Amino acid sequence: MEKVKQGKHVFTFGVGSADGDKSMKQLLGGKGANLAEMSSIGLPVPAGFTITTEACDYYTTNRSEWPKGLKEQMKNGVHFIEEIMGTIFGDSEHPLLLSVRSGAAVSMPGMMDTVLNLGLNDKTVEALANHTNNERFAYDSYRRFIDMFGNVVMGIPHEEFENAIESLKDSKGVELDTELDTKDLKELVNRYKAVYRKATGYMFPSDPFEQLEWAINAVFESWNSERAIKYRRINHITGLLGTGVNVQAMVYGNMGDDCATGVCFTRNPSTGENELYGEFLVNAQGEDVVAGIRTPNDINELKNVMPEVYEELLNWGKKLESHYGNMQDIEFTIQKGTLYILQTRNGKRTGHSAIKIATDMVHEGLIDEKHAVKNLVEPNHLDQLLHPQIDSDSVDEKSIIGVGLAASPGAAVGKVVFNSETAEEAAENGDSVILVRIETSPEDVGGMSAAEGILTSRGGMTSHAAVVARGWGKPCVAGCSDIIIDYEDKSFTNGKITVHEGDWISIDGARGTVIEGKKEVIEPELDDNYKTFMTWVDQFRDMNVRTNADNKEDATRARDFGAEGIGLCRTEHMFFGEERIRAIRRMIISDSFEERKDALAALLPYQKDDFKEIFKAMDNLPVTVRLLDPPLHEFLPEDKNDIEAVAKDLGIKASEFAHKVRSLREFNPMLGHRGCRLGITYPEITEMQTRAILEAAVELKQEGHNVTPEIMIPLVGTPQEFRSQKLVIDNTAKSVFDDLEDTIEYRVGTMIEIPRAALVAGQIAKDAEFFSFGTNDLTQMTFGYSRDDAGKFLGEYLKEGILQEDPFQVLDIEGVGQLVEMATRKGREQKAGLKVGICGEHGGEPHSVTFCYQQGLNYVSCSPFRVPVARLAAAQAALNSTR
Ligand code: ADP
Ligand code: MG
Ligand code: MG
Repeated sequence: MEKVKQGKHVFTFGVGSADGDKSMKQLLGGKGANLAEMSSIGLPVPAGFTITTEACDYYTTNRSEWPKGLKEQMKNGVHFIEEIMGTIFGDSEHPLLLSVRSGAAVSMPGMMDTVLNLGLNDKTVEALANHTNNERFAYDSYRRFIDMFGNVVMGIPHEEFENAIESLKDSKGVELDTELDTKDLKELVNRYKAVYRKATGYMFPSDPFEQLEWAINAVFESWNSERAIKYRRINHITGLLGTGVNVQAMVYGNMGDDCATGVCFTRNPSTGENELYGEFLVNAQGEDVVAGIRTPNDINELKNVMPEVYEELLNWGKKLESHYGNMQDIEFTIQKGTLYILQTRNGKRTGHSAIKIATDMVHEGLIDEKHAVKNLVEPNHLDQLLHPQIDSDSVDEKSIIGVGLAASPGAAVGKVVFNSETAEEAAENGDSVILVRIETSPEDVGGMSAAEGILTSRGGMTSHAAVVARGWGKPCVAGCSDIIIDYEDKSFTNGKITVHEGDWISIDGARGTVIEGKKEVIEPELDDNYKTFMTWVDQFRDMNVRTNADNKEDATRARDFGAEGIGLCRTEHMFFGEERIRAIRRMIISDSFEERKDALAALLPYQKDDFKEIFKAMDNLPVTVRLLDPPLHEFLPEDKNDIEAVAKDLGIKASEFAHKVRSLREFNPMLGHRGCRLGITYPEITEMQTRAILEAAVELKQEGHNVTPEIMIPLVGTPQEFRSQKLVIDNTAKSVFDDLEDTIEYRVGTMIEIPRAALVAGQIAKDAEFFSFGTNDLTQMTFGYSRDDAGKFLGEYLKEGILQEDPFQVLDIEGVGQLVEMATRKGREQKAGLKVGICGEHGGEPHSVTFCYQQGLNYVSCSPFRVPVARLAAAQAALNSTR
């Protein structure tokens, strides 16, 4: 990319050349950069120009002022288009009409509006009519323009125009828009102007340049519209300047039956099949296809209607695929038999199809393995693949309410709600809901995001609901015309079964079925494409991925998913179960050391068995076991009846036991007597756990297994704490090895989860053999947000933009990240090659994984289902890194 000239706000494109290219996404927005790129490689793109995202940023930060030079450059841009098209903007003989389109660096489908047919007024409409010899078309375009301009630019509700057309149709006694003749449309133009005048107090602007300026401003402003902000928040889109504005010569899909408009994918976005996939409408304009006003035709139909154009479209699709090395989502318009491409972008797709497309494209020789791993599959696609499916055996025919389009796979089970607010409220209360709408619009994104799944009764595979759901990997059945939805009654029916708000349904987004009641879901099977792809992933990955697992089942599953060890095995869960909890309670209430030892001795065999199973499941791989962490009172009953029952079970007086329980209660248990503080006050707990770990390991070694236990001391804040616990562990190890007359290698390290530990990491590293960032507690303590109470305000914080992300989901790189960086650096300065990992929830979150890679961590550890996600994120981090 050439250095962008200072003060250049406008980049032109058209007929074989362009100022910009696809690398300029940040400056031109995705749409603008791709229009430029397509022009350069010879695709039939109507000429136009793009105003930069920097200009949008200037407008936003300078109280709606344009940057210096923009106005003149815009005028030159219009002249550029005029030259190519041989028409003139505002001319009374050969008028040029324009579309004004938004487009940010990250695609936000349907988030901002487009104005079509700009440049029409009473004079140019006549010229257009003469020029095209089609008066009806000219006036139909004019009234659409007033409607769009009024709505998008001036914010007049679309219904006000709808009302005007409805009342005209009533008085004419006709039903369809197409039944209105030219005279009616002229009348309608006047009525629309009146609507405009009434709503704004102004006449409809007749000066084309004035129209253009206002439309550009409206696109700038749409960047900060409520729905755009919401979309960015839900999709974690941050750090962008604004939207680009694309001003482009109009081409017409609505001039007759040799015209059409449509959208298509170069491959099937649901299944990944290598076939053109999409929809089109004959004699239609703009967003008629997406809006679901008329039901569009399958793209295959185009083969019959306009075979040559179909071939051409197929070929351009192939060219774009190999040029971008990715499946494309294309918008096109056919004007009198001539094909124009209006947009291309990497198509959104399901996890299943992402994997199929990636492996197919490599096998077809279009891309190499590295490109496939780096670009064609997103970490969250893998998450989707692991999503449960509806067990079709559990579904009988009678319970199927309807079948719609299999718009986005996966099974969702929830209670029916009919609007987004209800969906959001229900989700906040922890309810699972299915959002049921006739169709969705960008206003619904909040509810769609909150719902488990989405069901619509209208719209195609490229309808709003379908596109958004696929992008999010959320199950969706779209266009289910078997059902009639009644918003007022809050119900829907197929004529036999009626479902009311709050009733349970299940939807199967892979089959398109809507099923009555709460259905069984089953785990998916991973196919060969997946396996092939993951072997490529591992070729490019150099950071390890471990799992957090406390039992054999999770460990085995995670290993199947590719985990390379356990990064966090919590031991407290092992104390539940009748016998065990009795033993730990006896330990807790013991008054003497001897009693405590006795009680712990009873726990030892249980722990040892657990460790043996886990170690066996992870044979040949490292396992990090964390010593007891939670405050002891978590093992004690709370209410009076339970206290009495437990006291009886333990054979002590209820009053005495109640007293003990009370004495253990803490004001701030999270900051109380827990973690290594327990081990220091009751070293016999550490002894017992160490013995269980090491006896298990030695015995397994003797059975021929290969075990490397790593013992992790929790909640360390000072080097002395660590040292004191390490001494207990080492002494116990000696005694175990003496008893068994055998030894095994083991390591002792610590969680870094208290900010102070990060600050004194250098000193801790003198004795510690590894660090593992416990980023859940570290986040909690760095922010001072209680994890259990943060729900009360985090929602508001995110809404208000006080926080960009929930720091418990996405690692706070700015703050907590500094501690991670510092502790790693100080630790390794003290001990070169110190092994460092992360075991908080963040270990499976792609952004956080990238950060861990950049910090040079040896591994991330996450829940079993996130392991494939982390593997891909780690590979992509390596491929994108300059480290
Ligand atoms: P979105 O980002 O919502 O897809 P677009 O800017 O792509 O918005 O515009 C929406 C639709 O408007 C396009 O798919 C196309 O049908 C129509 N459109 C945009 N520009 C033109 C044009 N120059 N000529 C004809 N139709 C256009
Ligand atoms: Mg749009
Ligand atoms: Mg578009």
